[in-house]
Amino acid sequence: MKRVYMDANATTPLLPEVMEAMRPYWMERFGNASSIHQDGQQAHTAVDHARSTMAEFFNCHDAEVVFNSGGTEGDNTALFGLLHPGDHFITTSIEHSAILEAAKRLASHNVITTFIAPQPNGLIDPMDIRRAIRPETRLISVMLANNETGVVQPVEQIGKIAAETGIFFHIDAVQGAGKVRFDVRRFGCHLLSISAHKMHGPKGIGAIFVRRGTPIESLLVGGSHERRHRAGTENVPGIVGLAKAAELAMHSLEDGTIDRLAQLRDRLEAGILQIPGTGVNGARSIDRHPERVSNDYHPEPSFNDCHPERAQRVEGPAVSCSSDKPGAPGPSHLGAGESMNPVPRAANTTNIWFDNLEGEALVIALDLKGIAVSGGSACHSGATEPSHVLMAMGLDKTRARASLRFSLLKAATEADVDYVLQVVPEAVEHLRAISPVAAGTAG
Ligand code: PLP
Repeated sequence: MKRVYMDANATTPLLPEVMEAMRPYWMERFGNASSIHQDGQQAHTAVDHARSTMAEFFNCHDAEVVFNSGGTEGDNTALFGLLHPGDHFITTSIEHSAILEAAKRLASHNVITTFIAPQPNGLIDPMDIRRAIRPETRLISVMLANNETGVVQPVEQIGKIAAETGIFFHIDAVQGAGKVRFDVRRFGCHLLSISAHKMHGPKGIGAIFVRRGTPIESLLVGGSHERRHRAGTENVPGIVGLAKAAELAMHSLEDGTIDRLAQLRDRLEAGILQIPGTGVNGARSIDRHPERVSNDYHPEPSFNDCHPERAQRVEGPAVSCSSDKPGAPGPSHLGAGESMNPVPRAANTTNIWFDNLEGEALVIALDLKGIAVSGGSACHSGATEPSHVLMAMGLDKTRARASLRFSLLKAATEADVDYVLQVVPEAVEHLRAISPVAAGTAG
């Protein structure tokens, strides 16, 4: 059976070039990069080259690149490495659990977190961040592209706020990598985390940009690897693979691959929206060049208290601090999660709700037809919970559960989209006909 993988935001396959670049470092060039003999020096040189490539990818100095095990470690490093008891931390209610769970743990160490809710279109309003700042705020952390909706956040504006107020700024750029052009100077961040496996590199390897002079404590202690930023023998094949993936990602952003991907995603989205009772979560219109979105920012004269409806002061990752009255009707033709205005999104992602349907049932039905996608719910402690991201955008539980994320690989083809557009309407029609949700008998 034909298989179409549209779950690239979960993970991506290695590109052949990445596999080839890594291959020698598993076997004949197996040296420890810390050893002084030739085998060690060969590995050390490979790590140095990879570091230079990553510095180009981030637009930073080589010395500002720290290799680690991936996005979770980068996110944890930013929070645990910078925050101390008594500090205040600002993040958003739509972050990955690598941030939300770290904030939860920090609450027991007397670090108070403010979670900023998105607007119904999935965008964080930088002014909400500014309003949340207090004298003891030490760190702001906001993701670049949301993993579920693809919505690209106004990080440049937030970077300006951080600079003006002398607060450290971390970006979880795991889902932006390879989809949005990086420039840590333009973003104005002190820290930025990425993961190789989201951009056709190997799993278990990533990097964090650490701006020179950022007083971050290492999460792992031991040897003096990575200039004491991250102890542990370097994963040389992984590092080489990450750098190769980053190099290929830089080309894709320049050679039209990402634009082509956005066109395919648009066609897929338009086709699915032909099905009655569907809509896009996060954005209606698409910007192919998120990095070119206006980043005008007009500072406010003074700090205000946190907007009570937009943010909550909590000691754990409460994600219910909804904006603009969740579920309240906007313009009559739009639902929660939709927007009249263009919202920048990662080129490969669309998140679509289907009325009168269980999302999980559709995920399974599509899988049986060879199509891999993700649903709008996640399994927590054995129970299926609706997506915290979609809920924070104001969707109700039923609609959040009935949402699917389609995230295309950059190798996606017209034929893949044709196949999905052939299968999805049939599957939806079939499930609606037998669905307890449709029949109004669901619990
Ligand atoms: N941050 C975001 C936005 C992600 O989507 C993910 C993974 O899904 C992570 C962090 C964690 O990255 P990793 O799988 O490399 O630990």
